[in-house]
Amino acid sequence: MPAPDRFRQIPSVTSLLARDDIRSLLAHHPRAVVLGAIRRLLDGYRGEASGEEGSGRTREEWTSRLIAALPAEVSAGEEISLRRVINATGIVVHTNLGRAPLPEEAIQAISETASGYSNLEFDLAGGTRSRRLVHVEQMLLALTGAESVHVVNNNAAAVFLCLTGLARGREVIVSRGELVEIGGSFRIPEIMAASGATLVEVGTTNRTRVADYERAIGPATALLLKVHPSNFRITGFTEEATISDLVALGGRLGVPVMEDLGSGAVFDFGQAGIPGTPTIKQVLAQGPGIVTVSGDKLLGGPQAGIIAGRKSLLEPLKKHPLSRALRIDKLCLAALAATLRLYADERRAAARVPVLAMMVEGEGVVRARARGLIARVRRKQALAARRDTASPEAPNHVPGDVLAGAEGLTMHVERSFSSPGGGSMPEVEIPSACVAVSHTRVRAEELDARLRKGNPPVVGRVARGRILLDMRTVRNEELGELAGALLAASRELCHSGND
Ligand SMILES: *Cc1c(COP(=O)(O)O)cnc(C)c1O
Repeated sequence: MPAPDRFRQIPSVTSLLARDDIRSLLAHHPRAVVLGAIRRLLDGYRGEASGEEGSGRTREEWTSRLIAALPAEVSAGEEISLRRVINATGIVVHTNLGRAPLPEEAIQAISETASGYSNLEFDLAGGTRSRRLVHVEQMLLALTGAESVHVVNNNAAAVFLCLTGLARGREVIVSRGELVEIGGSFRIPEIMAASGATLVEVGTTNRTRVADYERAIGPATALLLKVHPSNFRITGFTEEATISDLVALGGRLGVPVMEDLGSGAVFDFGQAGIPGTPTIKQVLAQGPGIVTVSGDKLLGGPQAGIIAGRKSLLEPLKKHPLSRALRIDKLCLAALAATLRLYADERRAAARVPVLAMMVEGEGVVRARARGLIARVRRKQALAARRDTASPEAPNHVPGDVLAGAEGLTMHVERSFSSPGGGSMPEVEIPSACVAVSHTRVRAEELDARLRKGNPPVVGRVARGRILLDMRTVRNEELGELAGALLAASRELCHSGND
């Protein structure tokens, strides 16, 4: 069929809307949702019609395809696209999976603050206007040991505010080994350019000495900036100026030092067998004027950018108009305050903050959870088998419903390594346990894709023909859902003619 004729075979929206079956869909779903679904399907068909496969389809064929696909497309259109997933990657602070699951206390605080009015910026004692940051200031001062603190929307905003407020129109000296990109869009040279500060690169990719900074300092220098390389490491023949080297140099020549620490830590993880990054208190004790961190990476709390340091540097930042544009919203603030409260007691934080609890959980406990998942899958299979033999005549009974497809499922526990994630400690591997899943008739990639489409979606990884589900980041409460998801996925794939 010539191209223009092929497209003429695709039904029009108007003709479709006149059909009874579509009119009855419109009675149960918002018109905009049904229209959106029809348009998405038709767009897809136009793409197909231009290709080989769809070139010979008639109007009747396109229409009956659309009618068959429409109910599912309408349901998809009504779903909220942002949803909870089961993280079986073993990456604890997973940048693409929403980073930190919040402590129960933080969730409570969000719910309470969201559902009514609050004293967000109101002093209840005096009956006067107040500032939102009073709710977290004291706790942050105690946690960091800093003279002054400020909080904004996230760490990218914190760095941007510091550079704009302290160095706009002037120079900022950074080592060539620290001109990093973090999480796609946060790139030091670009954020520097956007802030209006001039980047002065010193040293080389692998070696930068204090003398390199010293030579670059001039009348236009506003800041010496140290950036935590977060998600990568330079190893081998390397040298870098430490923060205390820079503080000594800056002190001698009257130039403030800032460190973008990114993650940092509140506690020394060395105690839990995880080689430690220095705590934020230790970093600040070395004397930099400003340290910035990501609230979710540092605390396992909500998204936030925390700026800690000297009062003389922070005061102008607090008054800067950008502070208003970058301010933390009330729900994040409520969650941050509740999370910070937990940190008053190290043991309580380790037990109540999910990210901390996951990182320090013993390998044996994770291994037991992995065995627990396999046991649940087997139990569901056994139950289905018993139902099969006990009541083959039961109404709605599909023989072997759960078993069909699931009998080819092979699962066993393997050692694996989890990672703290969040770019905090890229070289750190936490010994962990995963369930390795394979199927006699279904490829691991297909099973993996089906698990990601499940409800809730499950995200693992495929390696050497198996799906690896790291159980460090899966919670006990999710085991039932995960077992159900595995059985449903293998059943569906086998039924859809995979064998
Ligand atoms: C993560 C990170 C950032 C960005 O922080 P967000 O809170 O994601 O905005 C900036 N700098 C460093 C060093 C980081 O690790």
